[in-house]
Formats: sequence, C-alpha cells, structure tokens
Amino acid sequence: MTQPRAVYIHVPFCAHRCGYCDFTLIAGRDDLAGAYLDALQAEIERSPLTEPLDTLFLGGGTPTQLDEPHLQRLLDVLCSAFRFSPDIEFNVEANPDGLTDAKLDALADAGVNRLSLGVQSFEGRFLSLLERRHSSASAVDAFNRCRSRFPNVSLDLIFAVPGQTLDDWRRDLQTAIDLQPNQVSTYGLTFEKGTTFWTRREKGQLDQADDSLEREMYGAAMDQLAAAGFEHYEISSFAQPGFRCRHNQVYWNGGEYLGFGPGAASFVGGVRWQNHRSTTTWIRKILAGKDAVGDREQLDPEASARERLILGLRQIEGIDVTAFQAQTGFALEALGGEVLGQLQTQSLLELTNGVLHLTREGRFFYDTVAAELV
Ligand code: SF4
Repeated sequence: MTQPRAVYIHVPFCAHRCGYCDFTLIAGRDDLAGAYLDALQAEIERSPLTEPLDTLFLGGGTPTQLDEPHLQRLLDVLCSAFRFSPDIEFNVEANPDGLTDAKLDALADAGVNRLSLGVQSFEGRFLSLLERRHSSASAVDAFNRCRSRFPNVSLDLIFAVPGQTLDDWRRDLQTAIDLQPNQVSTYGLTFEKGTTFWTRREKGQLDQADDSLEREMYGAAMDQLAAAGFEHYEISSFAQPGFRCRHNQVYWNGGEYLGFGPGAASFVGGVRWQNHRSTTTWIRKILAGKDAVGDREQLDPEASARERLILGLRQIEGIDVTAFQAQTGFALEALGGEVLGQLQTQSLLELTNGVLHLTREGRFFYDTVAAELV
C-alpha cells in the first residue's frame, strides 16, 4: 500500500485568541506544551511512515508560540520520525509576535525552507482592531529576518476589515509587494459564529464591509499582485513563478495526507478523518493510548469525485475535463448535471479548451459555486 508523502502537524498554541479567529487553538495555555509534545510524539509513533516526505507543514495556532526549548523538541521529534525527500517543502506558519532569532535559526537548522508569516495588515489601527499583538514595524522586521534565512517566505493579509477603505487596502498590498515575498495570501475577513467579532457585529459595535467594497478589494489584489509579477494560482494565493505552495496543492489536487495534532485532518485510501478539536481532549486520549479521532468518513467514489471537483476548482487553472474523468471515473457533465450549465450561464464558471475554471467573477463567489456542486 502506498503511503502519503504529505504531512500536516497542528500546533494549537496562541498567546491570545484574535477576535475573528475560530481556528482550532488554545490561547494562553503554554503550560500544556510539554504534554502536547508527548502526545504528538506518541501519535506519530502510532503511524510510522517509511516513505520520505515531499511536504511537511506546521500550522496552527502559531507553531512559533512554542518557547525555544519546546520548539527545538518539536523539530527533533519531526526530524527523527520522518525521512525527508531531497527537495522537501518544509513549511512553518509564524507570527511576528515573539519570533526570536533563536527560533528562526532553529527552524532553518532543522531544514525549514518555507515560512508563512501572518501579518494581516501593515496599519496599526487595523492591527489593533484585529487584536493582533505586533506592530507594522515589527512585522516588517520579522519579515526581513525571515527573508535572510529562508528561500521562500509568504505573507498573509486580511481585507474588508471594518473601517478599511479601498485605498487603505491598496497601501497594504503595495507594502507587501515592496517587501518582495514569494507568495501573498489574501483573505476577506469573515465573521464566524462563536467569535467575539460575531458578537460585536450583532451588538452593532463592528460594521461588516459591504459586499461591493469587498469585491473591489479582491479585484484590487488580483490586479496589483498580477502587475507585480505574482501568479494567481488559487482563490486566495498569489505566488512568484516557481513558489506555489506544494503542500496545499496536494489538498486541492485530491492527494493523500496525514495530519497529527488536535483537529488535524487526514485523507488516505478514500477515508477522511479528523482528530478531536479540543487540545486537552486530544492530549488525554492519546496519552491514555486511545483513539483521538473525532470524525471518520469513508467517501464513496461519487463523493470523492465531487470533492475533487470542488477542491480542484479552487485552483485558477481549473480542471482538465478529460483528465478528471480518467482519474475519478466520472464525467464532469454527469456529476455537475444542470448546475454546471447554470453556473456557466451566470458567468461564474467557464469551459475553455476542455478546462473548466472559475471566471474572474466566479473567484469571488467560489463558496456559492462549491455549495451548488456538493
Ligand atoms: S494568531 Fe492566528 S491562529 Fe492565533 S488566534 Fe490569531 S488568527 Fe487565530
């Protein structure tokens, strides 16, 4: 049986939960780092991988929230548990806050070659509003310190922040471009139920940007980043040629992957499972020798094909209709039925030379397209 060659490690720690964030994380509980690492090591040892990894992605939470000894232990666990292929893409997500040179050196020494920095904005008032703990100056400083150590550095930005104008957003984009990252990822702010932003919006304390402004902002990102030489390769992702994120492409191309840590998802042999999202539950179960999986689902061939269609459409280059049928056994027209035609009539999808892809307008409405095709 083949083994996945892509691994995701979820590191759930953050100093503080930003008001808009609903990720799987535990804030202000750095005291759990030792138990987390014990559990992570145990979970990895249960699923030994002998094949070398092509991609390894440490996400969060904030992996670099771990203090230096715990970060070093995490890297030691990973480097001894996995074999790396010679051209592995070894990614780590980081925050400017608390990103010491010693942590960056430890990452570089362990072979990390792609650093994804969560900057979100370069304007102090929006950083405060988003409850980020770094300043614009410390984000630029962190970026430059990453740039000198890693061959591939990516920046994340958020748009449609309450009160942000189109000009504010264009300035953020330009500041990012001037830093010359290898990738820029842009996300429209969402208000998720259960977050403090959701509650504050309900109470009238925060104004959500209207749809038309958000669309203009997304359009500005597409235009400004393209003009600066970035390829728009996935709805939220713009990369310099040769710097696309290979790990994320595994997800979008329907590839197999293993995830470790609380809330981490895996997809192997048509089965998808996700660990318990609660860090404490996950630690307790793993250390007690129990199964820490929260959900498990065997996808039938049609569900697999549908998922592949939906994930594949996230990629701007779209889906080759002939290759899709050869790989999944399903013709796109049969799977999408009338809905495919309707989405094309609405100018959200387009079929060009045997490739189905989102239109420029459709990129903004991807969630609608995906919901129609489920
Ligand atoms: S730093 Fe990132 S993961 Fe942590 S709470 Fe803020 S947005 Fe969420």
